[in-house]
Amino acid sequence: MVKRTAIVTGSSRGIGESIVRRLAQEGYKVTVNDVSANKTGIDNLVSELNSTHGEGTAIGVVADVTSPSDVQNLIKESVEKLGPLTVMVANAGIAQVAPALDISDDDVHKMFEVNFFGVWNCYTHAARQMIKQGPVEEGSSGYKILGCASIVAFKPFPLLSHYSASKWAVRGLTQVFAMEMAKHKINVNAYAPGIVGTAMWDLIDEKLGEIEGRPRGETVKKYSSELTALGRVSVPDDVGNVVGGFMCSKDAEFVTGQTMVIDGGIVFT
Ligand code: NAD
Repeated sequence: MVKRTAIVTGSSRGIGESIVRRLAQEGYKVTVNDVSANKTGIDNLVSELNSTHGEGTAIGVVADVTSPSDVQNLIKESVEKLGPLTVMVANAGIAQVAPALDISDDDVHKMFEVNFFGVWNCYTHAARQMIKQGPVEEGSSGYKILGCASIVAFKPFPLLSHYSASKWAVRGLTQVFAMEMAKHKINVNAYAPGIVGTAMWDLIDEKLGEIEGRPRGETVKKYSSELTALGRVSVPDDVGNVVGGFMCSKDAEFVTGQTMVIDGGIVFT
């Protein structure tokens, strides 16, 4: 059987966790990554995946995607323990909700360090590793690099200025990177979730609620029912299944440079 391996950043919880779970179901060996503060989440998920799918399915690596050397070590450890890298999913991200004029320069730098440079580090170092490995094994689903954008990379939403800009940057980078990597047979795509009930949206719900005068939990309900054609809050598996099940699969071999919107019908591209 062809060995396929995947690294998913920021995958101890939320959308990344769902992508990792789906990839493990698909037979990938997976590397679960997150920052050290989420080490317990990494360890719990790794041991669960190994007991469900067999020992050696998953490893955990703490790494901060803003650090190029951490990302290089993440890839090195994954390759040494699981085998050649076939899929990199640059999923890790942060959000901040605030009026543009209240956002400090430091806030903007921090946002871009994680949401753009984090993706940049993963894209470039994964591509170097894949090129070094040479043509992908016959019968494999092919080399895939994916980045996490958002619906805010297509449509402006007030109070998310630097977050939106960072996700537009991911979408732009993905398009150019897809063109440059095509000759190496590496597909490069991004995905754009909508309103997903994760720790990130708990924070957005709290801040938007404070600013717009709603109790906790009401903002996510309001936005998902009013803005989403399918009328519900998204769950991580809505995204994990499309990314892990389709975008990383052989069926997606003629898809590159795209940012796939997975939002239940908020943004129509
Ligand atoms: P989440 O906060 O549950 O998960 C994000 C994970 O990334 C966390 O575990 C966090 O520790 C990790 N992370 C943050 N900075 C990191 C770093 N420097 N290095 C390594 N890991 C780091 O949120 P989520 O909703 O699962 O978000 C996953 C991705 O989806 C993010 O890129 C986010 O911007 C994007 N997204 C989320 C939504 C949503 O509605 N939740 C919508 C659109 C896009």
